Amino acid sequence: MAVRSTNAELIDKINEVLAQKVGQQRYKIWFKNSTRLMVEDNYVKVGVPNLFIGGWIENHFSDQIGSAVTEVTQRPVKIIFTIDPELFGSQRRRQLDSQAEFLAKTADPNGRRRQNFPAGRETRLRLKLQNFVVGSSNQLAYSAAQTVVAEPRTHFNPLFIHGGCGLGKTHLLQGICNAVIQKRPETRCVYASGEEFTNQFVLALKMGKLDAFRQRFRHTDLLVLDDVHFLAGKKATQEEFLHTFNAIDTASKQVVMASDAHPKMIGQLSDSLVSRFISGMVVKIDPPEFETRCAILRQRAGEMQKNVPADVIEYIADHLRANVRELEGALLKVVAYASLSRSGIDLEMAREALEDHIARTDPIVHLSDIEAAVSTFFGITPADVHSSKKTRTISLARSVAMYLARKHTSMSFPEIGRFMGNKNHATVILACRKIKHLLEDKETPVVWETPVGRREMDINLVLGKLESSINR
Ligand code: ADP
Ligand code: MG
Repeated sequence: MAVRSTNAELIDKINEVLAQKVGQQRYKIWFKNSTRLMVEDNYVKVGVPNLFIGGWIENHFSDQIGSAVTEVTQRPVKIIFTIDPELFGSQRRRQLDSQAEFLAKTADPNGRRRQNFPAGRETRLRLKLQNFVVGSSNQLAYSAAQTVVAEPRTHFNPLFIHGGCGLGKTHLLQGICNAVIQKRPETRCVYASGEEFTNQFVLALKMGKLDAFRQRFRHTDLLVLDDVHFLAGKKATQEEFLHTFNAIDTASKQVVMASDAHPKMIGQLSDSLVSRFISGMVVKIDPPEFETRCAILRQRAGEMQKNVPADVIEYIADHLRANVRELEGALLKVVAYASLSRSGIDLEMAREALEDHIARTDPIVHLSDIEAAVSTFFGITPADVHSSKKTRTISLARSVAMYLARKHTSMSFPEIGRFMGNKNHATVILACRKIKHLLEDKETPVVWETPVGRREMDINLVLGKLESSINR
């Protein structure tokens, strides 16, 4: 406990010094809500939401971070950048928007705003179905979304959309709300994230305002709940949500949800919720294939009123495959680079602009994907994977993550150890060996605990499920 509080103080201090060094304004844009510092014995980890932001911060603020850390800790420490899946959250969207706006202004010598970077007054639900590029990876989800828009009550309830980070789930959900409001303005429509639902429920409980809470969430024609995996492990909130769902369902109204995993893959979700969720329509969004990636890039370039040659579009689409967010980040970087050098965009320039970006994409993206999938599956957090906690579930999750990292990335044992909470390479070797033994032992299932009960499953099945949910 004592250690943790000093650590938090240390981080607060580093942030304070950093803000002085880079200036409040820039601190607010680049650090306040979009990075998370973690101080370990001999290095400081800077968690960033995606490679693009990470790259920008590394290129522009490495020195300031280094000197802030040294000033506070009184010793030189190494700085490591890592993708932090939790920073992907929808609550960060505003922040990312202001970064995009900042970049657009910086990139454009005249400081003119482009139409896709509206300032300030954008509504909460800014994503529209009209701007959603449809391809085979998301066709089914898109059609289901359209059905919800077309009919006040579809023949399936709920609609459950799942898929990896940055594949367009939030876009579809917000698009549905916007389209429904436009088409049937009288519709009562509630849009919230799993986190908001949880927080509001807890607050309502505390303040004795459950009635108002239930009025808001149950008396609605359309309830859209994003990132429902946030409910994992929260027993009382799940119970409340089950009643919310039943009330809406009984009234023949519609529920739409999104999550980064299939209902069965969200660890620590009560069986009754899981069976409710899969009783409707469950659709998966896959990472976009090449054609769709190109189409998305062309659309974005059009919105920015930039002339991006086909070979540049194809180059970006060919090298950034994991998700749309990265794709957009790369395009933004090329556009910014061209504006700064006051030249047109060509392949040569795009290669140069994305050199670091592309070289570093592989291990980092995959490792964070692995950690995200494993954490969601076992109902823990990536921080637990990095911790030294030794409970059965966390140890198992950590070993599985290390095994998958070894199998699916080109990282060495020491590298994996370093990234997963500064563990010794021997720990990683042992973990991999442990999983291999489990795989050879065909009899015994692996067992882990969740607040909603004990789970057991064949290790082959666990790995299979995880591998299919990691975007590879
Ligand atoms: P998720 O909620 O699945 O993590 P988002 O919906 O936030 O992903 O999408 C990330 C970014 O990619 C958003 O800016 C979104 O507009 C964009 N995007 C994702 N899929 C598409 C698509 N098919 N067409 C156009 N833009 C997309
Ligand atoms: Mg989302």
